[in-house]
Amino acid sequence: MKTIGLIGGMSWESSLEYYRILNQATRARCGGLHSAKIIMFSVDFADLAALQHQGDWAEISNILVEAAQKLQMAGASMVLIGANTMHRVCDAIEARISIPLLHIADVTAACVKAQGLKRIGLLGTQFTMEQDFYRDRLSSHHLDVLVPDAAGREAVHQIIYNELCQGQFTPTSRETVLTLCEQLVHAGAEGVILGCTELELLIGHATATVPLFPTTRIHAEAAVALALGAVEI
Ligand code: GLU
Repeated sequence: MKTIGLIGGMSWESSLEYYRILNQATRARCGGLHSAKIIMFSVDFADLAALQHQGDWAEISNILVEAAQKLQMAGASMVLIGANTMHRVCDAIEARISIPLLHIADVTAACVKAQGLKRIGLLGTQFTMEQDFYRDRLSSHHLDVLVPDAAGREAVHQIIYNELCQGQFTPTSRETVLTLCEQLVHAGAEGVILGCTELELLIGHATATVPLFPTTRIHAEAAVALALGAVEI
């Protein structure tokens, strides 16, 4: 079994979920007392969120490159960035480590395509929904990506930073996000990517009229498959 390196803390609410799913998926595949080999480097998200909102992606890159290098030095065989938004700096990280970086959008796109879908809605931070780095990565897998209108994007962004990343999960925000999913469906989406690692904590087991793709679960399960040699990248 390979050791999974996780850059966590972005936010730690979802890092807990990564830890749970990495271990549950390992037990599901290996049985008995088996659990995942994990090294986590958990950052102070307040610093990083401030840098995001200042647009200082160069400094974010410096911090996350250092975290990834420490994971590699500590013996990790792969690196996961435990957030969708922070994949904005994944190229810089990949260039500075010699172990694979498992990209959250690549494994999510594979799940979407496995269900035979092509037009996909995307919910996440405004960075994830509005900038090219994430949508282009999905498009490189031949997916058509739909995002909410400006008001919808602002609403989900505020929910993520002001509530979910601070451990608040309210029925009102759950309804808001599910309504945005339905609007994406009316616009033609065949499924919706929950492209922020805390969104699935808010949505829980609620169903929508189309498949939902929870990126924390998809990313963590893909990491376990890689760690156990069931797939390669
Ligand atoms: N965890 C969130 C994500 O998946 C938001 C936190 C961040 O901006 O890194 O994008």
